[in-house]
Amino acid sequence: MKASVQQQQDLLGLGDIDLEISRSKSALGASTNGAAFVELRSRQRDMAADLIAARNALDSVALELTRAEADLELVEQRIAKDLVRLNSTNSAKDAQGIQSELESLQRRKSDLEDAELAILEKKELAQANFDDVLATKNTHDAELSELESSNEAAVLKLRSGLDLLVTKRAQQASKTDVELLALYEKKLARGTAVAKLNINECGACRIGLGATALAEIHAKPADEFVTCPECQALLVR
Ligand SMILES: [Zn+2]
Repeated sequence: MKASVQQQQDLLGLGDIDLEISRSKSALGASTNGAAFVELRSRQRDMAADLIAARNALDSVALELTRAEADLELVEQRIAKDLVRLNSTNSAKDAQGIQSELESLQRRKSDLEDAELAILEKKELAQANFDDVLATKNTHDAELSELESSNEAAVLKLRSGLDLLVTKRAQQASKTDVELLALYEKKLARGTAVAKLNINECGACRIGLGATALAEIHAKPADEFVTCPECQALLVR
């Protein structure tokens, strides 16, 4: 295809802008849906589940403690009643019966007190675990939100950069020959449309051209837009 050296240079400029646009778009995609975010958000969900589990464990041991305290209170009330009965009875036989009941109540009380102590220890552990999980989750949440806001700033910067590039591209495209632009767009849809010939290497496919192909290219007049025999990209000499 015929194209002046200036037109060829302009098209190469357009190709550079399109390359920048494509890089900018992938950077934008990576910053909003990047692997780091996917990983952090998934960890955040795991931690929320851990926190619920820790809270449930704590609630369940607290309920256990309430029940143990109620059991202990009942036994203590019965002991108090028995002591009143013991002090008011005149019957030696009744006194003996009450005494033996009191002994068994004391044993029960001692067992319940031991159980209560064990539950208290369990509760302390559950509370420590809950505090631990909560602190870890809070730290992680703060990290994620910090990363999100710094990412937001980066995204804003990338977006405004992209806007500028799009404007620049429109300007560059407007001064390009219509037919040449159509050819460029067609080639762009399949890959790199235009590139520089670097000594003997095509800037698009990076394949080194053979001596014959190179000689053919150089034999063409300067206003002939040549193409790479390997990848069909337009080549600017
Ligand atoms: Zn090529």
